[in-house]
Amino acid sequence: MSNSPAFKFDNSYARLSEDFYASVDPTPVKSPSLIKFNTALAEQLGINVSALSDQHLAELFSGNELAEGSEPIAMAYCGHQFGNLNPQLGDGRAILLGEVIAKDGLRYDIQLKGPGRTPFSRNGDGRAALGPILREYLLSESMHVLGVPTTRALAAVSTGEMVRREQLLPGAIITRVARGFVRVGTFQYFAIRGKIDGTRKLADYVIDRNYPELKATETPYLSLLESVIEQQAKLIAKWMQLGFIHGVMNTDNMSVSGETIDYGPCAFIDEFHPTKVFSSIDRQGRYAYQNQPAAGHWDLCRFAEALVPLLDEDQETAGEKAQQAINTFPKHYEHYWLTGMAQKLGLSAPTEADRGLINALLDCMAENKADFTLTFYHLSNALAESTENDGAIRHLFSNPESFDDWAKTWRKRLSTEQTSDEARQIAMHAVNPLYIPRNHLVEAVIRAAEDRGDYQPFYELLEVLQQPYTEQPRRERLAEPPKPEEVVLNTFC
Ligand code: AMP
Ligand code: MG
Ligand code: MG
Repeated sequence: MSNSPAFKFDNSYARLSEDFYASVDPTPVKSPSLIKFNTALAEQLGINVSALSDQHLAELFSGNELAEGSEPIAMAYCGHQFGNLNPQLGDGRAILLGEVIAKDGLRYDIQLKGPGRTPFSRNGDGRAALGPILREYLLSESMHVLGVPTTRALAAVSTGEMVRREQLLPGAIITRVARGFVRVGTFQYFAIRGKIDGTRKLADYVIDRNYPELKATETPYLSLLESVIEQQAKLIAKWMQLGFIHGVMNTDNMSVSGETIDYGPCAFIDEFHPTKVFSSIDRQGRYAYQNQPAAGHWDLCRFAEALVPLLDEDQETAGEKAQQAINTFPKHYEHYWLTGMAQKLGLSAPTEADRGLINALLDCMAENKADFTLTFYHLSNALAESTENDGAIRHLFSNPESFDDWAKTWRKRLSTEQTSDEARQIAMHAVNPLYIPRNHLVEAVIRAAEDRGDYQPFYELLEVLQQPYTEQPRRERLAEPPKPEEVVLNTFC
């Protein structure tokens, strides 16, 4: 390891006691090959690997070679999966290589997904297939550009090995970066075992790392609960504003750092419908688009329960405090939802009455099978009524006149604010993307990579997603909804 690059690892999680994790090395893969390395992100993280060849990067980001200072661990956690408690989960196909302090002074986890079995793998192979790795890379990087707190993608490597799912598929490994991988399920892990000291240590860790400003408060643990509740409300509101469906909002997939984590069968909506589900494993629609705020609230109740022992010496009082905190979720969510949706509609000072206007648009979109992303994108071109302005948006609605009716009320409301159309249009364009990683595009990327080893469509889409708000010449195709024969109904993880 003498010529191994220095990552300046400082592994605070590995310094916690052994019941928090299991030490485990990645299992080497046959012939790792670099698909993509995120140079800009590496730069921000202060990871200097510019002198390394692609092959050397592939060795590092497959786990075949460990950078100096790496202390690989699999984190222990449990979780409610689709409402049922599984007392023992943990990183079954992820390994934390270590933590780095980035240029912004913050601490980031560097984690491999798909590096082989860990003590938490149960029956799983600890591996990941190429398709989900490419999906995660595209979606997480797109979410970041769209201003959504999320894990980032640092590298994707193909392994040269096949993984067995319903069929044999090429294997791959993604390197993810996060402000922390502590989940609601990590707290539950200690709570359900009655290990109050573990819960407290974990809470102290998260406060130290993600919410240092809470240390000075009189009740840091209650403040932690309140902060996580607010961060999740804000995060889920953002998902809703972009038509993003996470797909597996189990408590082990909710990060207390407030980032979107665990990109599995997630997807963006094309044709809007509130009950939309893509995930092949979500048969009851528990995590359907419109259920996401309630699912988040439910997960946070489990978080509150886990924290109860820390909130007051008197457990009854502690329970009441937890309940009060939990009750703030709807208020926070409604606030962030209204503020964000109003911006999308060009309103700068939303009032409660605007909820009706926004919901009327969503209802109209659902009834008329309008494309979610394009409706909001073209709305900014329809500020002033004219045949020309309205052309692009009207044809998204199966009955264009129902849009006309809604638009009358909307324009009347816009005229009550003192903003020029120009300023309004600029503001709207900044929150209503044209390019999102649509399902059929992601599928086409995966097909090309799986069938032909062709990553060109992946690179092209990734590049276009870097500038989501502006029309890019010769890339019109990547803004369009799927043709009927291209529609993807199910996603897999
Ligand atoms: P997820 O649905 O991705 O959140 O995963 C739920 C649990 O199953 C986590 O503990 C994962 O680590 C584990 N898991 C999922 N897929 C695999 C696999 N292929 N091998 C081992 N563990 C897995
Ligand atoms: Mg998970
Ligand atoms: Mg997963």
